[in-house]
Amino acid sequence: MLDHNRLRIAIQKSGRLSNETSKLLKSCGLKVNLKQQRLISFVKNMPIDILRVRDDDIPGLIMEGVVDLGIIGKNVLEEEVLNRLSKGYNAKYIILRKLDFGLCRLSIAIPINKDYLGLNSLQNTCIATSYPNLLKKYLDQYNIKFKSCMLNGSVELAPRVGLSDAICDLVSTGATLEANGIKEVEVIYNSQACLVQRYDKISIFKQTIINKLLKRIKGVIQAKVSKYITLHISSKKLKQVFTLLPYIHSPTILPLIGETEKVSLHIVCNEILFWERIEKLKLLGASSILVLPIEKIME
Ligand code: ATP
Ligand code: ZN
Repeated sequence: MLDHNRLRIAIQKSGRLSNETSKLLKSCGLKVNLKQQRLISFVKNMPIDILRVRDDDIPGLIMEGVVDLGIIGKNVLEEEVLNRLSKGYNAKYIILRKLDFGLCRLSIAIPINKDYLGLNSLQNTCIATSYPNLLKKYLDQYNIKFKSCMLNGSVELAPRVGLSDAICDLVSTGATLEANGIKEVEVIYNSQACLVQRYDKISIFKQTIINKLLKRIKGVIQAKVSKYITLHISSKKLKQVFTLLPYIHSPTILPLIGETEKVSLHIVCNEILFWERIEKLKLLGASSILVLPIEKIME
């Protein structure tokens, strides 16, 4: 029997989200064995139980209040919301944060040899998809009438075997589409994995654990996109450096042995920004630049 005083989190058992999800939970310090075949795993060092299920079941488990949290692609969440609303079921949830993995887009694609002249080319066609509700919501905006044929897997095959004129499926690199003679023509939804909380009231005890977990997740994600940079620079140029590299935490300035003008600057900043600005930093005279990974950032 499950203990109601333990926080319940639903995650994908096996699939494209499972690796990153277990990596994230482990980086947050949760001691749990997710490799075993069990459907419920108990976290040893925190009052948390992990339910490992098919991703399609996660939104329903959240909205029915069976689990307190879920980690799920926004595409699956939003499709289930539309499905539940059309049936008159409750479809409430709270997105606590985007998790920066499971990035993909839901796109309409057609055979490579067909011309595409805008959305009107899709008028009265048959489109194979596992996302009929998201597709309808999108095409309704443009008054495009279509027939959707529901496929749960291998959607790319549908035009080749004469089942549909087009498909609407998830794309990340586009390689699968290309390999199946299909080209992407419209992006209808951008998605990534999210941490989602159930909508109804949660006990103070559970909310405290959620807040703790959320803080750690923020730290892990921020660490992933940040680098710890050290460089030597003239102290007169520091102001200009800070304009180029907005810092996340107050930087440290250390004296350098045998130097009167130059100092060693230690700064945490966004990695992409750093690479974009590196030439300008060098022009300011920055030298001995070190770029170091950060494991976690705790506020
Ligand atoms: P399950 O067995 O749990 O039902 P599934 O086969 O429906 O799994 P996966 O293919 O594992 O689902 O994808 C899970 C989620 O990963 C997707 O809903 C989406 O949010 C995300 N994702 C990221 N990139 C892709 C991609 N290229 N193709 C499909 N899904 C992707
Ligand atoms: Zn699924």
